[in-house]
Amino acid sequence: MFDFQHITRETDLYNLHTHTQFCDGHATMEEFVTEAIDQGFTHLGFTPHSPVSVESPCNMGREDVQPFFDEIERLRTAYGHRIHLYTAMEIDYIGVNDGPANEYFRNLPLDYRIGSVHFIPDIDDPANMVDIDGKFHGFKARMGKNFNGDIEYVVNTFFSQMMAMVEEGGFDIVGHMDKIGFNASQYRDAIDEEPWYDKLVIDLFENIMDHHLTIEINTKAWLQNNRFYPNLKYFGMLKRFNAPVVVNSDAHYPTLLNNGRLEAIRLMKVL
Ligand SMILES: [Zn+2]
Ligand SMILES: [Zn+2]
Repeated sequence: MFDFQHITRETDLYNLHTHTQFCDGHATMEEFVTEAIDQGFTHLGFTPHSPVSVESPCNMGREDVQPFFDEIERLRTAYGHRIHLYTAMEIDYIGVNDGPANEYFRNLPLDYRIGSVHFIPDIDDPANMVDIDGKFHGFKARMGKNFNGDIEYVVNTFFSQMMAMVEEGGFDIVGHMDKIGFNASQYRDAIDEEPWYDKLVIDLFENIMDHHLTIEINTKAWLQNNRFYPNLKYFGMLKRFNAPVVVNSDAHYPTLLNNGRLEAIRLMKVL
């Protein structure tokens, strides 16, 4: 198993969650590598959005997987003496055996895997998987179109998908575990302060711990929205239970490689 804690003990300058030309990132892998070296990073992982069984402009196709591996090899040859580069994926959980646990992903020669939920079933047409991860404007439109305005369905289903993903396994890091909280709390103010919501997060946390998975503290939205995933209010729980964590900025631009990361690391230390 990949030793994330080895990296986090060694340095604060790592990032194990990045998106490049192989999915919806806005720069090439090589641009990420050179920026990472310039910023003093010693460990960098590439995690394109995995091939999926649903239509998604953000995910890589299966035909892109080998070129992705080839590009990593090329970059390792060119830069491997200056930075550790990791081949990984952010694998979408869609449904039973359609996610990280699937044979296809298990057989890929990846250094590690992030498991994430970005899609949940349409409330009336469960075969239709709907993106709930994007910007609020689009989320709000889909709340009417795909979920009949039922925000509790959306929140409950997001967490039940996360729970099912954890049960099925096949991955190492739980990606942005309560990300639905941001869009949901814009749709219904402070929904993420309600006790039933809190219980969903805590139940998920306990399940993750039972399965000995690493939790990502995702800092992508910190500067823009003042929000970490998991939310800052859960950092104390992570510490109390000595949860294995990695801090990633989920960067889609090389300049955002360290975005919010050092703040999260500092807050974890002082809490
Ligand atoms: Zn994600
Ligand atoms: Zn991501």
